[in-house]
Amino acid sequence: MIYSEYGKTGHKVSAVGFGGMRFNTKKRTDEENAEIILHAYNKGINYFDTAPGYCEDKSETIFGLAFEKMAKERDKFFVSTKVMPKDINGAEEGIASVKKSLERLKIDYIDFFHVWCIRTWEQYKTAMKKGGLYEGLLKCKEEGLIKHICVSTHLPGNEVSKIINDGYFEGVLMGVNILNFRFRWEGAVVAQKAGIGVVAMNPLAGGLVPGYQKRLEFITEGDETPVEAAIRFLVSAPQINVALVGFNNKKEIDIACKVTENAQPFSEEDLEKIKQKMSKNMDVLCTGCGYCEKSCPVKIPIPRFMQVYNEKLFCNKNDQDMINRLNENRKWGILEGVYADPKDCVKCGKCEEICTQHLNIIERLEKMAEWDEAVNSKQ
Ligand code: SF4
Ligand code: SF4
Repeated sequence: MIYSEYGKTGHKVSAVGFGGMRFNTKKRTDEENAEIILHAYNKGINYFDTAPGYCEDKSETIFGLAFEKMAKERDKFFVSTKVMPKDINGAEEGIASVKKSLERLKIDYIDFFHVWCIRTWEQYKTAMKKGGLYEGLLKCKEEGLIKHICVSTHLPGNEVSKIINDGYFEGVLMGVNILNFRFRWEGAVVAQKAGIGVVAMNPLAGGLVPGYQKRLEFITEGDETPVEAAIRFLVSAPQINVALVGFNNKKEIDIACKVTENAQPFSEEDLEKIKQKMSKNMDVLCTGCGYCEKSCPVKIPIPRFMQVYNEKLFCNKNDQDMINRLNENRKWGILEGVYADPKDCVKCGKCEEICTQHLNIIERLEKMAEWDEAVNSKQ
């Protein structure tokens, strides 16, 4: 396992982190899932990420079972969890959320506590306002309940940079991977330069990489698979401290650890070639370049919706799969804070004129509005 220093904290974190959002809670007991965590720890993984709500709200409890067994070595592993500003009304509720997580995790302190899921500037301001979540977290830090206050965000790179430059956080958790790095990389670069720890989530692009391996062969080197290449991309990048992989079984952990052992970074030339191929060969996919975003008169965040639509194309998902996907996204607030939805498109065509991929955005939004309607009719 490779380790690097997380920002300026002095902590050496493993290049692969355990993302606790994929436990199979239907087929395995909590104890069986906790065994998977212990396996990862034995393989050298020392960064464990969870959150309230993951895996039918069982994830923190599962980690708690494992941490009880690891308790004697508490200074050798790092625990990350979170809370969403939208779920918190004021500092006191923030403190209560930290205490609830501590209880479920069966530990005395949380190493990295995240202001979770910042997707809009308004959400950021809500978290930081006087008497708000951040103030509660500062109190928890003073009392030793948390060690470092971090932020998790899905904002584009330039906006992540603004948050980092404000200087309130010691680490950032962001969704960056081999498929979207053009869109998000700036945030990682700025964070690293500022001495902020950087953790990457969603390394396999929400299942796009394993779902479309044949199509992604151009990202590979030698006999590696696209999944291995996508993990290698993150674990070898000097800008990234930890690549969080959502493990479901021990075999996945073994593969990620093996890739990490020999990981050679992608050269600038390799990355440029990938960017080129992405635009030449991936002409049906939104690359997340963001050029269209400001063109929309009704302020639909087109790249966000087109990235969701990518999954249909990449993974051959049918309408029902996409309805489920949108339902999940709505449930987790992934599309929260958007000013307008697909149904609001007035078909002016401005975005299609600008789109670097020449995508049929209007047609895609029409389809997404249909899926949204199916989601809404269920609620
Ligand atoms: S066609 Fe629709 S999505 Fe595109 S710019 Fe016009 S209103 Fe916005
Ligand atoms: S311009 Fe096209 S490719 Fe770029 S983000 Fe917009 S829809 Fe996606």
